[in-house]
Amino acid sequence: MRLGDRRSDNVEDRRGIRAGPALGGVGTVVVLLLAWYLGIDPTPLLQQMQTDSVSDQPAAPPDLQHDPLVDFVSGVLADTEDTWRAEFAARGGRYVDPKLVLFSDSVSSACGHAEAAMGPFYCPGDQKVYIDLSFYRDLRERFAAPGDFAEAYVIAHEIGHHVQNLLGISEQVQSEQQRLSGAQANQLSVKLELQADCLAGVWANRADSRQLLETGDVDEALAAASAIGDDRLQREAQGRVTPDSFTHGTSAQRTRWFKRGLESGAMDQCDTFGATQL
Ligand SMILES: [Zn+2]
Repeated sequence: MRLGDRRSDNVEDRRGIRAGPALGGVGTVVVLLLAWYLGIDPTPLLQQMQTDSVSDQPAAPPDLQHDPLVDFVSGVLADTEDTWRAEFAARGGRYVDPKLVLFSDSVSSACGHAEAAMGPFYCPGDQKVYIDLSFYRDLRERFAAPGDFAEAYVIAHEIGHHVQNLLGISEQVQSEQQRLSGAQANQLSVKLELQADCLAGVWANRADSRQLLETGDVDEALAAASAIGDDRLQREAQGRVTPDSFTHGTSAQRTRWFKRGLESGAMDQCDTFGATQL
């Protein structure tokens, strides 16, 4: 993909800063095990264990000029800001820019301590997206989904969770989940995840209208969406698929909802909660 001219100021570079466990003990272990089991994106897990124990570490100013990956991430982030500011303004609302934290190994967030192995996540408690750039290496090597647009899609999906947070959707889902059984609560998580994929598609639609997409980009994003579907991740991890524990949706579902956002470019097409079929 091509990048626009603008770069976002909302990137925090915390790479090289090793975070001590903020939660400690059993809580962290449980989150880590669950995240390992699910494969990636422990956002829903972390939502449920928000703590106040944020240790605000000093972050070095991002080195935009000398680090092409940081330049890329802040370029994509800037484009999501432009997209969602306009979308919110068109609805009479105001988009609050989230921060994007780059980290290595581990990081402390308002949602607790996180390890790189957990994959990218969004923390509603501090409105920050956390990405360990080594996840991009996993995308290329472990998930065989290379390409800059696959990387952009990962950011856009997490930003989708921020949009859901601003709209109050995440909070609604969370309180609903407390009343439901495990399998039903997982169903809601799947809908939340697929909606984030659809919102990533809406962003891709806007990026396309700004002529930022190149040939093959959409295929890259679709490959990434499909590669990190729960059914495929689970099959790799345990050799079989257990649908009740899905929290992200199958590869086919993720692809379908991303496409839906991409082709329609309309947020109201992303109503996974009202859909009869996912
Ligand atoms: Zn997600």
